[in-house]
Amino acid sequence: MAELVIVNTCTVTAATDSQSRNLIRRARRMNAQARVVVTGCYAQVDPQALAALPGVALVIGNEEKQDFLARLTELESDCIQIQVTDIRQVDVAKTLPLSSFEQRSRAFVQIQNGCDAFCSYCIIPYARGRSRSVASVDVVKQVENLSAAGYPEIVLTGIHIGNYGQDLQPKLDLLTLLKQIENSNFSGRLRLGSIEPTELPTELLDYIAAAGWICPHYHIPLQAGDDQILKQMNRHYTTGFFRDLLAAIRRRQPQAAIGLDIITGFPGETEQQFIATCELLSALPFTHLHVFPFSRRPGTPAAEMAGQLPGDIIKQRAVRLRQIGEQKLADYSRQFVGQTLAVVIEGGEVAGRKKGLSQNYLPIWLSAAEVEQGQCLPVAIAGYRSDGLYGKIA
Ligand code: SF4
Repeated sequence: MAELVIVNTCTVTAATDSQSRNLIRRARRMNAQARVVVTGCYAQVDPQALAALPGVALVIGNEEKQDFLARLTELESDCIQIQVTDIRQVDVAKTLPLSSFEQRSRAFVQIQNGCDAFCSYCIIPYARGRSRSVASVDVVKQVENLSAAGYPEIVLTGIHIGNYGQDLQPKLDLLTLLKQIENSNFSGRLRLGSIEPTELPTELLDYIAAAGWICPHYHIPLQAGDDQILKQMNRHYTTGFFRDLLAAIRRRQPQAAIGLDIITGFPGETEQQFIATCELLSALPFTHLHVFPFSRRPGTPAAEMAGQLPGDIIKQRAVRLRQIGEQKLADYSRQFVGQTLAVVIEGGEVAGRKKGLSQNYLPIWLSAAEVEQGQCLPVAIAGYRSDGLYGKIA
């Protein structure tokens, strides 16, 4: 039975806060003597609330997490400690030099942390601090090391990766970083994490489209399908700009995956604005949709806005948007039947089948007897079912 339980929390929505509290209570139920250490974004923004839960011995902020083991060693037996400082004061991005990712076939390299955009609904700038970038030499070294360790795919992650390098001396940008990776000893494929629509200039789109080693996959937050709501969200683009951006990507890469994030139920969202969002989404050439029901985050401007919508309306709208997303994904997936895709095989097995991920972010199912986790294989796509495409090694 665990005597010490570490809970790494998320606070992006009220639901994730609640899940974190439930995990802490569960740890205590399983062993009434267990001491619980809480860290992560919820710990960063509301340490007092977590320290008040039974069994919590230590609350560690996101920056303090860097010295996690030392702080655990110093943990005193019978007093509750809060070790959380003002993360907005931190201006250097520290990352853990990870050399393996348990049970994962793809490796993740954090190139940036924090955000200065302060979208009106978002708690992340308060939980992660200001935007700060990892030195490009360290990013390249980490990418090379993970590639040499056998990972066939590396994902570049961050909170605001389009802002990469703007805080470094001299300043850099994402395109320069990608060129440095291209000229390194990296072999394999690279995937970009989520990137803001205003941070995909023409030169970057051209470069990605021409780079066969970068997965043809964009993840771009749209967040609202109405210009007035975008303004209230403090997002600095219009739906017209977004439409043009997706058209520009499609011109260069007709079969690329394009994932969007959308929030529904933002304060004051009218039925008309919601319908306009549905129409916009139906018309946009995207392939994956991540729907987020609006969640009131204390401390953000949107939490105090007039016109907060009832939960059941937000839920209904989210269901409708997810239906649009599912249809787009099914239509997109079917295009690849009869084609060959490069697939990285993931861990786990379901009913004799293993799942892999294609370069264009589609789940592909194969017979488990044919493949092993971590392989990157050409797969001939034979058909489509509700859980994704399936095929055989080409
Ligand atoms: S850009 Fe993203 S992380 Fe930054 S405030 Fe907006 S939604 Fe949050």
